[in-house]
Amino acid sequence: MATPLSHLAVPLALTAALGSDIVPPELMALALVCAALPDIDALGLWLGIPYEHPFGHRGITHSLPFAVALAGAGTLLAPALGADPLATFAVLLVSAASHGLIDALTNGGLGIALLSPFSHQRFFLPWRVIEVSPLRPSALFSRRGLDVLRSEMRWVWVPCLAVAILGMVLRGLAGQ
Ligand SMILES: [Zn+2]
Repeated sequence: MATPLSHLAVPLALTAALGSDIVPPELMALALVCAALPDIDALGLWLGIPYEHPFGHRGITHSLPFAVALAGAGTLLAPALGADPLATFAVLLVSAASHGLIDALTNGGLGIALLSPFSHQRFFLPWRVIEVSPLRPSALFSRRGLDVLRSEMRWVWVPCLAVAILGMVLRGLAGQ
């Protein structure tokens, strides 16, 4: 896993880039949930579900089909969120799908079941540039934790910040 903070950077960047007209606070809150939700499978480790099991860590909840289903379900709430359905689907899909893809950039653990439930094969992306985060949060307060945060800053936070600033500049130029 990457740290929860880095997964949340994606919906925060989308919100900043697109602005509150497209991403009202209610949609941002749901997008934050969608970005963090896949790691709910870490609970399975404590319940005795093996890491490599389809329902194990980095299994089905980290897959792209799961992200599509989650975004689809969330889109049903679009009217209540005060957001456009298409924008809602897109923001939730990017937020949810980014979780597995960011984890697929890490250099530890098992791969990500990106195609589950259609295939249980585990994948990494060709660039495993992010230091894998320890599963125990307390281990983040160590030298290794600093290495993890430094690599996430470089490969997640800085690109997210760039997207946010680019979106804000483009919206400014468009006079919105
Ligand atoms: Zn994860």
